Amino acid sequence: MDYFSQTVSTVVDWLADPGWKEEEIYNFVVTVLVVSQVSEYGFIFLFWAVEASGLFEGYRNNTPSRSNEPGLENKIWWTALCSRFPAHVGGAVIYVWFTWCYRPLTQDIGSCWVFFAWVAFHTVVAEVCQYTKHLLLHHPNLYVYHKTHHEVRSVMPEGGKYIGRMEILASIFGIYLLPISACRLVTHVLDTARPHALIWIFMVIKSDFEHAELHSGYTLPFTPIQYLPGYWGYQLHHEYHHTNQYNYAHWPVLDHLFGTTYVPQSKSS
Ligand SMILES: [Zn+2]
Ligand SMILES: [Zn+2]
Repeated sequence: MDYFSQTVSTVVDWLADPGWKEEEIYNFVVTVLVVSQVSEYGFIFLFWAVEASGLFEGYRNNTPSRSNEPGLENKIWWTALCSRFPAHVGGAVIYVWFTWCYRPLTQDIGSCWVFFAWVAFHTVVAEVCQYTKHLLLHHPNLYVYHKTHHEVRSVMPEGGKYIGRMEILASIFGIYLLPISACRLVTHVLDTARPHALIWIFMVIKSDFEHAELHSGYTLPFTPIQYLPGYWGYQLHHEYHHTNQYNYAHWPVLDHLFGTTYVPQSKSS
């Protein structure tokens, strides 16, 4: 109750004075928009280049291939284009919330350890939200909002962008708003300084890379996310999801914990 009333009064205070100068908000929004566009498309191009170069065929996952319907690529890009607008409207709401939960980019970053502790916290909360959202979307009553993504039967780097509008809204809420709010709750309970806004840019880049790599069809030995705790083999883990009803998490350890992992039997057994 105390937290609730304090939250309300802090929001009211924020409306009177967000604690961010106007140009700081403007710079942050522009930075995030530019970073998210560059990283989202940049990583897709990167994995296209991996395929086009032919240099990394030894690292191709080679899951039993199921072909995509003709013209799926065009549908993906058209949907991505139409989704930009609602996504950015949702994003604008988040930025308002954001300025209440984080310190402006112009302030000192502070301790490296604290910075990475916040990155770890955001990663865990975002992955738990992603797992829960994805598990719910596979419920027979909700699957209608998720089936768009499963038109991608054989993965391709741009496939991670192909989700319906309802799922975009669920993602904005689950993968962005909840971690941001959880972080505000922690700073309130521990009575510590708000995290630095750069953490968010870090998370945007990680999320874009993750989505491109999960749908790339490759397990390259030199990409970084797979070496984080619990992420080993996460590329194949998601690729199997596109052929089965398991492996909902992008962070495989969650599927192991909750018994929702699928590993194909080897042919020799
Ligand atoms: Zn799914
Ligand atoms: Zn997918």
